Amino acid sequence: MQAGLFATLGMMVAAIVPGFSQSTASVRAHEPRQSLALALPPLTLARLKGETGDSWQLVRVNRGQTLGSVFKDMDIPSSTMRQILEQPGAKEALMRMKPGTELGFDMPVNGALRTFRYDKDDSHRIELSLTGDKITQKVIARPTETRTVVLSGKVGKSLFRSARKVGLTAANINTLTDDIFKYDIDFNEDVGSDDRFSVVVEQTWREGELLSTGPILAATFTSEGKLHTGFRFDRGGKPEYFTGDGRPLKKSFIRMPIAYARLTSGFGSRRHPVLGNIRMHKGVDYAAGTGTPIMAAGDARVQFIGWKGGYGRAVILDHGRGYTTLYGHMSNFSKVKPGQRIAQGTVIGYVGSSGLATGPHLHYEFRVNGVHRNPLSVTMPPPEPLSGMALAQFRSQTSVALARIRQVENVIYADAGPAPAPAPAQQATPSIKQVAKKVAKSRRA
Ligand SMILES: [Zn+2]
Repeated sequence: MQAGLFATLGMMVAAIVPGFSQSTASVRAHEPRQSLALALPPLTLARLKGETGDSWQLVRVNRGQTLGSVFKDMDIPSSTMRQILEQPGAKEALMRMKPGTELGFDMPVNGALRTFRYDKDDSHRIELSLTGDKITQKVIARPTETRTVVLSGKVGKSLFRSARKVGLTAANINTLTDDIFKYDIDFNEDVGSDDRFSVVVEQTWREGELLSTGPILAATFTSEGKLHTGFRFDRGGKPEYFTGDGRPLKKSFIRMPIAYARLTSGFGSRRHPVLGNIRMHKGVDYAAGTGTPIMAAGDARVQFIGWKGGYGRAVILDHGRGYTTLYGHMSNFSKVKPGQRIAQGTVIGYVGSSGLATGPHLHYEFRVNGVHRNPLSVTMPPPEPLSGMALAQFRSQTSVALARIRQVENVIYADAGPAPAPAPAQQATPSIKQVAKKVAKSRRA
């Protein structure tokens, strides 16, 4: 019973943690939450009576709907629409509307469109007033506020459900399981209901409404008392996730460049299935259906794409530091081009049986300085850790984030014992009372 109670309490807490992010937030007092009507509401009383009062109609754009079809549904002449589109910025905003976009029409009874309104972006609403042939444009600022928060919860029955409940997006959860902790935690086997996670994210709010949640900036996962950490950091303009001491969480190479395949032939000498003679098998074979995507085993430059004798359609990737990989017997290539730089996991082609192959499979070779090595047993090179200026910058960011997570966890899970000690923080840690105040404040906000 006790455990159940803690779980419930733990899942509902989010705390504001100012200071981690450099982004400036424009703060404004919250106005009451606005409720907006969906799709085409029935005629308002004012309209029925022929009055000029409240005659706004709000329309939410459906999937596949265009501005033209919305205007047609509203019985507004296409000449008016063209006139609107001529306004500065209107085309850019209105020609690529996402489903759910809201448009406002102020249409008095027996009258033409009087005012049209749309949201240019999260913080700007545009109102176009039509008088005769003239349109006047008014920009209404709707300030947004960015908050850096710690979202924390226990795994409970389902990590996905618990994480959604505390406010993580589906994309956040994918990052957590597939990018940050994929190599250290087996989410199918190792995770228990008492395990807990905490992430630092930026949320964008407007008028008391959560608009969006950014990518995970920092994350911890505590499994059986063991603390795992991951931090987002831009290296060379590319975001990556690192351990607390600045080592990339991503491995240099994935073991299998293909998902859900069966190893059918290992590395070493064997009788060749097509030629019939004994010869060295310089790679490994994975049986998979024709068309199964093949992924780049590591970040690379594309060295070769084309037909290569018995390999059939083949791709060779150069991973730098003397490492190359080869993928053979493809049925088709993806859109990658020779010389192109690609990231680990990029689809380079599809399984087939081109060249000397008895059936559809991937032939995969791993070479170190030109020498064939067994990809299943070769010691993969460790990815390059952060160093110098980047490491210093990384450390100053992560120590703050980790301290915040620790504060929040100490409050939420006080009964479950203190959180495992993270790396030494450079900031003075406020008392639990101070943090509790902050948590309470964020709940009121
Ligand atoms: Zn082979």
